[in-house]
Amino acid sequence: MRINAFSDVCLRALMLLSASPEGELLTTQAIAGGVGTPYNHVSKAVLKLRSLGLVEAVRGRSGGVRISAKGRTTTVGWLLRELDEREDLVECESPNGDCPMNTDCGLRGALRRAREAFYRELDDIVVSGLPHRSQMEPVFVMLHTRRPEQAR
Ligand code: SF4
Repeated sequence: MRINAFSDVCLRALMLLSASPEGELLTTQAIAGGVGTPYNHVSKAVLKLRSLGLVEAVRGRSGGVRISAKGRTTTVGWLLRELDEREDLVECESPNGDCPMNTDCGLRGALRRAREAFYRELDDIVVSGLPHRSQMEPVFVMLHTRRPEQAR
């Protein structure tokens, strides 16, 4: 199963924020650089993470965002469920679906159960427990060695 691009950016951003030094605020631009994703996409992801209470924003010249207490305990499974708005997992469930095999189809239920099993497997994985030193160090070196106007 493939997660959508938006969920992927949200997960990456939360991982980056969870690995940030205690108290450090990251701007959306810095997060975009750290997760290798365009600013506009990251901006929407940060807004969503804020609306879910997973990050906190500090306004002002040296403002930015940081992970919240809730964000530190969030699991991959919970976050992906929150971000998964697809009701139509298969074509027959979309308003324009016209599959002729739509009566009592066993595949539809099997796919729904498979999706639930996918999330269940990730319910024990805490996002903030994922980043490790060798993975994140190069990212923060890159962010901190950028000139201020680039890292903002
Ligand atoms: S085969 Fe079954 S699950 Fe697939 S589109 Fe048709 S009715 Fe839906």
